[in-house]
Amino acid sequence: MSKHQYGEIMMGPGKEFDIIRRMIHRWGGLVRNIGDDAAILDVPRGERLIVSTDISVEGVHFKREWFTPQEIGFRSAVAALSDLAAMGATPLGLLVGLTVPDRWLTELDGVAGGIGAAVMSNDTVIVGGDTTRGEVLTLAITVLGHTRAPLRRTAAVPGDRVYVTGKLGGPLTALRALEKGETPSKEARERLATPMSRVGEGRWLLEHGARAAIDISDGLVADACHLAAASDARIDLDLDQLPLISGASALDAAQSGEEYELLVVSTRKLDEKAFYERWYTELTEIGMVAAVGNPSVVAYLHGERVDIGGGFDHFAPNRLPAEG
Ligand SMILES: [Mg+2]
Repeated sequence: MSKHQYGEIMMGPGKEFDIIRRMIHRWGGLVRNIGDDAAILDVPRGERLIVSTDISVEGVHFKREWFTPQEIGFRSAVAALSDLAAMGATPLGLLVGLTVPDRWLTELDGVAGGIGAAVMSNDTVIVGGDTTRGEVLTLAITVLGHTRAPLRRTAAVPGDRVYVTGKLGGPLTALRALEKGETPSKEARERLATPMSRVGEGRWLLEHGARAAIDISDGLVADACHLAAASDARIDLDLDQLPLISGASALDAAQSGEEYELLVVSTRKLDEKAFYERWYTELTEIGMVAAVGNPSVVAYLHGERVDIGGGFDHFAPNRLPAEG
């Protein structure tokens, strides 16, 4: 790490210096392209630069007592990388912005280790960042990626098939248990604490004909609504088809947020078997794009129309996880 990257912080004594040194030590070879005031990255010729930022705040997005420091770092990086997955992009690197309260200093190696694990499992690197002291642990992670023809939310047209990756319901099932002071099942807790970003899967889906996608951060139906709005289309979902983790109902799966699975739209039929053989993850057809105009999502369960609320809304008064 160069002096330039972190300016005066690097030169002066004090906690910030220690924080940065410790994180860089922890990340080792995962730190790349650092040595100037800003990172310099090559984008393959003819490809687009894809950029996204995701912020995780203690007490808003996670409760300290529910996760290990590693898990907090891991899921924050996954949340950011998942947005590249939804675009079908290949990661170029991450910028890690941290606000660290004094009470978190002893746990910082764990947080950095979790970020590093997510970075490594997505075959990418850390290319910069910034650190400051503050009242609440905040992780602001910016991801950079590239692709020739990104998956957009706007591209769904009537007749398209709708698919979802993985099995749904885990995060909501786990959160519900945690809020009651109970221990969630191992499977549900893993889906909440260490979700996977489907970066390779997103690229595969793009290469095999998918035309639009969104990652499930607010909940399947809520995110389908975002896609429907962007494409000015109506999307019909058959909740009986939803792939479920054990212990989750179809309604849970329809509303569970922070899944980081991909909701994908394709004109062509996608090969679920080939997808599974490549990624050991389910790809399931769950609905279709029904009509243009009047953008909406219509969900059916046991053949009957069901009304599903919006899912996770950061600005709703009863947001989940509860404020800390
Ligand atoms: Mg997203």
